[in-house]
Amino acid sequence: MTASVKRLASVSLLSLALTSAAFAADEKLRTAAEQAQPAVIDSLHEMVMIESGSSDLDGLQKMADFTEARLKALGARTERRKTTRGTGADIVIGTFEGTGTKKLMLIAHMDTVYERGILVSQPYKIDGNRIYGPGIADDKGGIAVILHSLKILNDAGWRDYAKLTVSFNPDEEVGSIGSGEIIAGLADQHDVVLSCEPTTAAPIARNDSLLLGASGTATGVMEVKGKASHAGAAPQLGRNALIELAHQLLQTQDVAKSIPGTQLNWTTAKAGTVRNQIPELATAGADIRVTVPDGVQKLQAALDEKIKNRLIPDTDVTVKITAGRPPFIANDRGRALAKDGQAIYAEIDRKLDIAEMTGGATNAGFANRSGKAIVVESFGLAGWGYHARDEYIDTSSIVPRLYLMTRMLTELGKRK
Ligand SMILES: [Zn+2]
Repeated sequence: MTASVKRLASVSLLSLALTSAAFAADEKLRTAAEQAQPAVIDSLHEMVMIESGSSDLDGLQKMADFTEARLKALGARTERRKTTRGTGADIVIGTFEGTGTKKLMLIAHMDTVYERGILVSQPYKIDGNRIYGPGIADDKGGIAVILHSLKILNDAGWRDYAKLTVSFNPDEEVGSIGSGEIIAGLADQHDVVLSCEPTTAAPIARNDSLLLGASGTATGVMEVKGKASHAGAAPQLGRNALIELAHQLLQTQDVAKSIPGTQLNWTTAKAGTVRNQIPELATAGADIRVTVPDGVQKLQAALDEKIKNRLIPDTDVTVKITAGRPPFIANDRGRALAKDGQAIYAEIDRKLDIAEMTGGATNAGFANRSGKAIVVESFGLAGWGYHARDEYIDTSSIVPRLYLMTRMLTELGKRK
């Protein structure tokens, strides 16, 4: 054997060793994930039986009791913070101190879109691979992934992190109006935030996915002030706010079309109080979605320009956009982390897709707002029917999702 052939042989042996190492599953974690499945289903059942719509203070506090007790049992220091707006229900925050260097954060939400009493018409039920229940995927599945992944890692003695924080908020479905700033503030104190909204189940989606973008929300209010007068005796003395509003809605309805990454739809309107008076006040409301950081500002500027064109002189027209949840646009480091997720899924022979953008807004927008932490979305279970009827999770996603979360955390813990 010549020297060059020897070298070639040893190089290929080395690369083979690396390749097989990269694709070898962590069998301990995989086995633990498989063993955890019945307990995950028990937790899902318990949580679904606690109805916790975003306006259901009693149900939300019960969910807070449940999640706080679970975090305590895992050895977390827990804290309950009141949301600053809305129902005033509690955010549950659990903190673990470890022996490593990374600061990691996991987030999910406890509220659902369903009204009290929903379990009567949509009960918890198991049908093959599907388990049905209001909020079971969005987002009780996300909570279950967090709690049971931490249980697996706790049992394995894993403490390779400086700090690990868990946040469960009670108002995600109403824009995290009373918790978003708290989530954003906490996220900024961490290196990585994994947000646990559900992923889409098969066969609707070919594969599970991680998500790198979600639109932000905003609300637009247009107000027209005119002048009241007798609609029968002296209409010419009035300035009809309703007619001016109609003119303004027509001329602004397509305003977002020229601003990439924005969407505006006028959805509500109100004018006048009685039939026989020329109305002096008219208002309209718009639903706004943005997928670019400066979308709200650009839209506001374009609207301010458009409304200068009046139909009725002497009317006063204003538009005010109030930003809601910021858009989530993952940075390059988030994209790289999602690719790591794909490699982890490959270890257990599963395909993981990377989804770029969804129209629904999520807490990842707050976590990612400053760009300090690396943020990736959709570490929850695979499901379908969110915000609709017959919401379910696919039980065949439980093991891969526990494996993904536990492997991702141990991998992140190792990094310098
Ligand atoms: Zn959700």
